[in-house]
Amino acid sequence: MSQQKRVLILGGTGDATELAVKTAEISDVAIMTSLAGRTRQPIVPFKETRIGGFGGVSGLVNYLKEQLIDVLIDATHPFAAQISFNAAIAATAVNIPHLMLIRPAWKPVAGDVWLDVDNNATAAAVLPGLAQRVFLTIGRQELSTFAHLNIWFLMRMIDPPLPDTLVPPGELLLDRGPFSLENERSLLQQYEIGAIVSKNSGGHATYAKIIAAREQKIPVVMVQRPPIPTGEKVADVESALFWLRDKVSK
Ligand code: NAP
Repeated sequence: MSQQKRVLILGGTGDATELAVKTAEISDVAIMTSLAGRTRQPIVPFKETRIGGFGGVSGLVNYLKEQLIDVLIDATHPFAAQISFNAAIAATAVNIPHLMLIRPAWKPVAGDVWLDVDNNATAAAVLPGLAQRVFLTIGRQELSTFAHLNIWFLMRMIDPPLPDTLVPPGELLLDRGPFSLENERSLLQQYEIGAIVSKNSGGHATYAKIIAAREQKIPVVMVQRPPIPTGEKVADVESALFWLRDKVSK
């Protein structure tokens, strides 16, 4: 008789939620999921979801030991690099299998006008001269990077900025994806948007704005992904499940 395996999924993405739901269908697996606690009303796939940081690498190592975790899957957002490095180091320290589920970055297609930049500060530096009205879709954590600019911003995020945040001039739009193409087309037109700032998050949920920008010949300042650790990686939920079934069968 096989022994139950304990799997920890680091989440905060739609892929992580889908993976957790599908992992629950594998027999002899107990799942725990973990969220950072950034959003006020997170999508919690299971009651076995813990919320909040672990306390760095040492905190995560302690958690993995205390909870007798056998397998760690990092399904966090491609821009959540800190937790991915922490997870890679912690999994090595406790010697358990570790996988990163990271969806592929978007690639420009014919008609796209992208300016690739390395980070939000560079995005802010290229905006003057590009547009006077900008759709800022980088979330709420780095809004202040754009606050000094003499530009009007439509700023979309799930929760409002924290009280001490320096918010750029413009309008807040509190909304959670996925976003339809019709929605994105009309936002760009209604607000007379001249440029978009986006992270290269990949996936379908927030891609419609890129299509709408292409249609309306609007440039996209595309923030490139930060480096992530070396290690085993897959690009989609099905591949993660395939990998997991192999690990839990051993
Ligand atoms: P980050 O910079 O990589 O992580 C900062 C700290 O947050 C980590 O050191 C860890 O704290 C804690 N943390 C992050 N993810 C966690 C998780 N799943 N469970 C427990 N603790 C976690 O991450 P971030 O960019 O702030 O993103 C936070 C969360 O939001 C991630 O889970 C990510 O999947 C989700 N998210 C991020 C973005 C984005 O653009 N960055 C977009 C959509 C969703 P300790 O060191 O104390 O353990």
